[in-house]
Amino acid sequence: MLHAFFGGTFDPIHNGHLRPVEALVDEIGLNRVILLPNHVPPHRPQPEASPQQRLKMVELAIAGNSLFAVDDRELHRTTPSYTIETLETIRKERGKTLPLAFIIGQDSLLTLHLWHRWQALLDVCHLLVLARPGYNQQMNTPEMRQWLVQHRVTDTNLLRQQPQGYVYMAETPLLEISATDIRQRRHQGISCDDLLPRSVQRYIELQGLYR
Ligand code: ATP
Repeated sequence: MLHAFFGGTFDPIHNGHLRPVEALVDEIGLNRVILLPNHVPPHRPQPEASPQQRLKMVELAIAGNSLFAVDDRELHRTTPSYTIETLETIRKERGKTLPLAFIIGQDSLLTLHLWHRWQALLDVCHLLVLARPGYNQQMNTPEMRQWLVQHRVTDTNLLRQQPQGYVYMAETPLLEISATDIRQRRHQGISCDDLLPRSVQRYIELQGLYR
């Protein structure tokens, strides 16, 4: 039994999130993927959509797919929490033995050393890394390169046998889609067909988002 959490701003959620994660479910036999929309701290560039709108778009994107669920705990907080803190809370809730994973894209892996207490992440979960076009590069620092060598595995059975501690680089499909690009296309009145689910696109239009 392997449960994976997938954090993101999801401003908006798009096929570049969904397709690779669906492929990952098959690649390693994930039992559940729980999307975790972020509370964006005030000192960072703010999402264009409100927390409620970002949550609604995630709900629409996963509607009818029982493999997926959403955990909106970060959006209910009045203060932002670091990913490691959320994952530590989740680990406490689920007990010490359940295998847990956190999904990130390759771009996020490259900047992982800037995350608060990044080295503690593997004390509470595995990291599953989605391939992302343009980011298949060497890690930025010698420390990160060594960390990856120490923790990387290719045997997916290990991810189910151990509760945490491994990094798995997935061979998921490469989709050149980003939320930034979708917002820019909307600003310029360019079609976003095929970049995100129809239901999310319809919601964006009804709410007049990203204009
Ligand atoms: P933005 O363009 O606003 O930075 P984004 O498209 O990168 O947004 P986020 O919500 O910030 O989307 O991403 C959440 C997670 O999904 C991150 O770990 C990111 O690396 C990953 N991700 C986003 N788009 C892709 C993609 N096309 N392929 C693989 N991973 C992706």
